[in-house]
Amino acid sequence: MATTYKLLYDWHTHTTFSHGAGSIEDNVRVAARLRLCGIGITDHGPGHLFFGVKRSRLAEMRAEIETLRARDLGLEILMGVEANIVDASGRLDLSPYELSLFDYVIAGYHYGAFGENPIAMCACHVENIISNATGFLSRRSLVKNTEMVEKALHTNNIKILTHPGDKGSVDVFAVARACAETDTLFEINARHKSLTVDGLRTAARSDVKFAVSSDAHSPERVGETARAIRLIAEAGLDIERVVNLRAV
Ligand SMILES: [Zn+2]
Ligand SMILES: [Zn+2]
Repeated sequence: MATTYKLLYDWHTHTTFSHGAGSIEDNVRVAARLRLCGIGITDHGPGHLFFGVKRSRLAEMRAEIETLRARDLGLEILMGVEANIVDASGRLDLSPYELSLFDYVIAGYHYGAFGENPIAMCACHVENIISNATGFLSRRSLVKNTEMVEKALHTNNIKILTHPGDKGSVDVFAVARACAETDTLFEINARHKSLTVDGLRTAARSDVKFAVSSDAHSPERVGETARAIRLIAEAGLDIERVVNLRAV
């Protein structure tokens, strides 16, 4: 009989505070119905030009989460953020003080975030778009993206590296090794398709631990990790290395 897996925590979900479709309460209610042990609300960092959460609304988010916590719905409710890596030195789009306002930080590379040197970051995005579409400059982009992500991991306290290699290809083994060195979980994202079976096997050659995420942008997708679980099965990844899944 095929093994089935129980998702314990979904640490990567979005709400209307960035560009998700539902409220914090909507996401939490779905997670409670699925009997998850916990859910994280991780809207996009404020540096995302189109989808970023407004700095002025962080207190409102915190208040909503505290209100839900007080209702004792039977699961852990956390306020996180999906920060943007915004320059070649691996800086994130939130100050150390702002980062301290969250229960945890997850981070990834996204088009739409430009940091303090928008010309350089715009060049980085354009190079990745060209390289993804044509293969031209692909080696150069891969080296630069890998260095940027490694630096982000080593200079910030990141719980989960989100969708590694999405939008900007990386040396998967090098990035997984940097995750292992910095106690960061390597995400197996159910929504983005950048991670392949081979890529997951490559990451697993390091000592890294993994987390599956729905990256839900609507409440009905909360806890939806079927694609990630299929990838784990196909890659033959030891389930013990996936910290938020349990075989049942
Ligand atoms: Zn993302
Ligand atoms: Zn996301």
